Order: sequence, then structure tokens, then C-alpha cells
Amino acid sequence: MDYYAEREEVAYFMRRLYDKNLTTCSGGNVSLKLGKDKICITPSGLDKGRIQPEQIGIITLEGENLTPELKPSIETSMHIAVHNMRPDIQAVVHAHPVTASSFTASEIKINTALIAESAVILGTPIFTQYAKQGSTELAKVVSAATAQGNIIIMANHGVLTVGETLLKAFDRIEVLEASAKITLYTELLGPKRALSDSQLTELITPPKANVNDEKKLIDFIVNQVVEQILKMNS
Ligand SMILES: [Zn+2]
Repeated sequence: MDYYAEREEVAYFMRRLYDKNLTTCSGGNVSLKLGKDKICITPSGLDKGRIQPEQIGIITLEGENLTPELKPSIETSMHIAVHNMRPDIQAVVHAHPVTASSFTASEIKINTALIAESAVILGTPIFTQYAKQGSTELAKVVSAATAQGNIIIMANHGVLTVGETLLKAFDRIEVLEASAKITLYTELLGPKRALSDSQLTELITPPKANVNDEKKLIDFIVNQVVEQILKMNS
């Protein structure tokens, strides 16, 4: 079977989404880039909790189904549009986790400034307007949103994350669901204390001393190389 390792990886992360209660047996889809111009993607209409590598389809980024015996996900055009928008990422995960999806139907936003893990891994999620599932419009609004960030909240639908690896995209969706729960629990507990602006800045920005040290080291190496070249030419 072509691309066995990649299809096995997609099947594994789909089953993991189901096992972790991040999707229902029919919802959610996962895709992974194959080279520069193809993706492999979960199928439509099969039990997501038992998905196997031979059920993962292969599609070109122009939409041609290279595994016509398999029915691709209804959100294939959304995955293709996101991969075309973000050639820097390898993986796309879309699901309807219960808590995060509740916020897609609420005026309240998931607060990613309550604990350090959310602030570092999620930053600020991007909210998109509503569009019907499986539609070209949905593919358009969601892919446009991924130009601004890695975590997308889709109005009255669900969430989508992207990553340089499948693990990174999965981590983002798992932390997003955890952050949605933490937002809900802290609302129930009453008065809350979020991280301050300076604490958030400290978490997200690398320490200045290290940046300077690194720059000094690079300058030093460049100077050494230039000196050597000048010596060789003199
Ligand atoms: Zn969906």
C-alpha cells in the first residue's frame, strides 16, 4: 500500500481523537501532507473509532481522488484549501469537541489567558463566521482564517487546528478543549484571576538575554569566517 506510514499515522490520530472524546464516531476529519502536491485524509461514513490505514484516502491538492474506491471526507475541499493556504504546515485536524464547540455557539470566547499552557500553545484563536458544512464557502472562510493563526473557531460548527506535524495539530485541539473546560469551570467558580499582560508577554516572548547572546554568537562566527576569507585572499 502506498504511503502506509502516513496513512497509519492519520488513522492513529483519528482513533485517538475518538478515544479522547474529542469527536463522535461520525464527526471530525484529519489530513496529512504527502510530498508537495498530495494529502491523505480520513474517509466519510465509516466508524472513526476503528479507522484503519487502508481506509485513508489519497487526494491531490487540485482535488483529484487517487483512491476512488474510498469515499473521501465531506470536508475534503476545506482541508485542501487550508493546505494550499499554508504550505508551511503538514497536518490539519477538524472536530466538534463538546466544550469548545459550545463556545462556537456562544458570545463568550474561550479564555486562553487563564493558565500558562493555553497561552503558550494556543495564543489567540481566530473566530470565523458561519458557513454550511461541506460547502465551498466553509472552505473559503476557514482557509482564509488559517492565514492569521493555527487555531480556528468555526461559528456554530466546531474547531480546526493546523500543525507542522500531526502531533502538534492534535496537541492544539486537545489543549483548546481543555481551555474551553477551564473557561467554563472558572465562570462557575466565580471571580477569576487571569494571567497579567506582563506574565503573558514573559511566556510568549523569548528572554532578551538569550536573543542577544545568540546574536553575539552569530556576529562572532560571521566575523571569524570573513577574517579567514580575507586572509585566504591576501
Ligand atoms: Zn465539521
